[in-house]
This record gives sequence, structure tokens and C-alpha cells, in this order.
Amino acid sequence: DAKNLIVSFGEMLIDFVPTVSGVSLAEAPGFLKAPGGAPANVAIAVRRLGGKSAFVGKLGDDEFGIMLAKILKENGVNIDGICFDKGARTALAFVTLKSDGDREFMFYRNPSADMLLIPDELNLELIRSAKVFHYGSISLIVEPCRSAHLKAMEVAKEAGALLSYDPNLRLPLWPSPEEARKQIMSIWDQAELIKVSDNELEFLTGSDKIDDETAMSLWHPNLKLLLVTLGDKGCNYYTKDFHGTVPAFPVKAVDTTGAGDSFVGALLTKIVDDQSVLQDEAKLKEILRYSCACGAITTTKKGAIPALPSVAEVHTFLDA
Ligand code: ADP
Repeated sequence: DAKNLIVSFGEMLIDFVPTVSGVSLAEAPGFLKAPGGAPANVAIAVRRLGGKSAFVGKLGDDEFGIMLAKILKENGVNIDGICFDKGARTALAFVTLKSDGDREFMFYRNPSADMLLIPDELNLELIRSAKVFHYGSISLIVEPCRSAHLKAMEVAKEAGALLSYDPNLRLPLWPSPEEARKQIMSIWDQAELIKVSDNELEFLTGSDKIDDETAMSLWHPNLKLLLVTLGDKGCNYYTKDFHGTVPAFPVKAVDTTGAGDSFVGALLTKIVDDQSVLQDEAKLKEILRYSCACGAITTTKKGAIPALPSVAEVHTFLDA
């Protein structure tokens, strides 16, 4: 159904990931080129789960940009909203896998093509056809892509899309933590669905207590659903009428990259078909269980995009 399109807006890039952890990329015996970028991961997650999705953003007119657009297309994502910058290169991230399992990033972005998207380059027709419009924060960091981001949100909202926001904080990219907080909060009360991680909740509220009170301090009147993801502890959900926790599935996690995007993609794929689930706690819990399963499966495989599950995989996982 053309009406059930999920449009993801923002950056897509390539992560250079060392084949071993505990050393920098320069010291590693080898590396993988992993396509990523949270909004692009979500667009592909939606497709794997049988939804319709489009990606809107800018890539460099170089081998990396061409490769990324091809990956989206091969996965069935509508790429009519992609444009290519003639001068700037595609964004790149150089990853260090720390021994404790955490990841550290260094970015090539000076400036990368995604940062140069201008409002006039937006495919407005595509954005207007979105039933759900999903976005992150990286495109808020600088002009001109900040203006493009704000315009895309406005156009989607005017056309009646549900606005879905995952701040996806990458602090090193911001001039300062204060600036990150300010920009994130400047668009906070426009989103009807927001997903934050426990770390982002701490960062945005300044509280180290991941409890209901802290989460609800981020509530705003336009919000229909607030989610706090808790890694191997699942997620907390909040609506104006009810709140609760959905536990995670116990799995042997090998790489948590993309778990949050997989979770969001699953959630949006379900919500785009029936927004009434936002008022029905039993149905919502069921959908969040499905989303947690998707997140869990994604952690059992390396990389983000290769680890995003298909519907069949999720069913097998849930039936096991
Ligand atoms: P983010 O990537 O945004 O920080 P999380 O890492 O919390 O998000 O992952 C999103 C969801 O994926 C979680 O709510 C959980 O359901 C699932 N998940 C993540 N990590 C694990 C894990 N180690 N074991 C089981 N499930 C996980």
C-alpha cells in the first residue's frame, strides 16, 4: 500500500571496522567496510521485515556513495530521495572496537556530502507520501543540512506523517555537549514517537537514574510513545495512559551495532500499519516484544545491515 511508506531521513556512511578488538584500525591486521548510518539501517530493517521504505539524504559522487545507494536499492529501499554531491566525499567512520565491547569512532566529515544537503534538493513529493517520517540528529549538527532536516520534518508533518525520532547521539561529532543537547531539544517536542537509549536519557536529563520519573521528565504533549532502550535489559515504554517494561531476549551478543535501528525498524513497520496500537497496551507490548526480538537477533551477528533480520528469521527466533 503506497500509503504505508516509511521515509528515513539523514546520513549514510561506511564504517571501517577492524577485524580484531582492542587495537586501533591502524594497528589491526585487517578491516571490513560496513555500510551504516542509523537512518539507512532503519530503512533496510523495515524492508527486511516486509515494510515499504525510502531513504532521503546526500552521498558523495564517489565509489562509496555509489556502493551505498546500490546497497539500499538491492534491499528494496526507494532511493528517489538520494542526491549526490559533485565535490564532497561520502562520510566515513573509522571504528575502534575496545576490549570491553564498546566502540569508538573517528569520522571523515570535513565536510562530507551528507552535511551539504540543501532544502532545495529535498524530494518533497516523496517526503509528502510518508506515513511515518523517521530521523536522527547528525543532520542537525551544521548548516546547510540542518535547514534541510527542519524543512523535511515540516513538510512531512504538514502532509500528516507520524514523526519518529531517534537522537542517535554521536557526541564526538558535535562542537560541544551543550550544543548537542540544545539542538536535540530544539526539535524534541515535534516528534510523536521518540526512542532514546539509556545513555541518551542520562545525557539529555543530566540524571544518572534510569527510572520512570527521569524518562517522564522528557515527556511533551505531542508525544504518543516514548521508548527507552536498555540493551540486554529490554526497553521501557511510556504513553500518556500507561507505561511498563518489555524484557530482552537472552542471546549471546557478538556485536550490538544496529540493535537499536533494528528495534526501531521493527516498531515502525508495525505502527505504520495500525497506529491504534499506541493506545492499546497489550498490542503495544506484543509489538515491542517483536522489536526486542529483532534487536536481539541483530546482536548475534557482526555488522549492522548484514545482521538485520527477515520476517522468517524473527518468527523462527520467537517460536524457538
Ligand atoms: P541502542 O542501539 O539504541 O543503544 P540497544 O542497544 O538498547 O539500543 O538495543 C535495542 C534493543 O535491542 C534493546 O531494547 C533490546 O531489546 C535489544 N538488545 C540490545 N542488546 C541486546 C543484548 N545484548 N541482548 C539481548 N537483546 C539486546
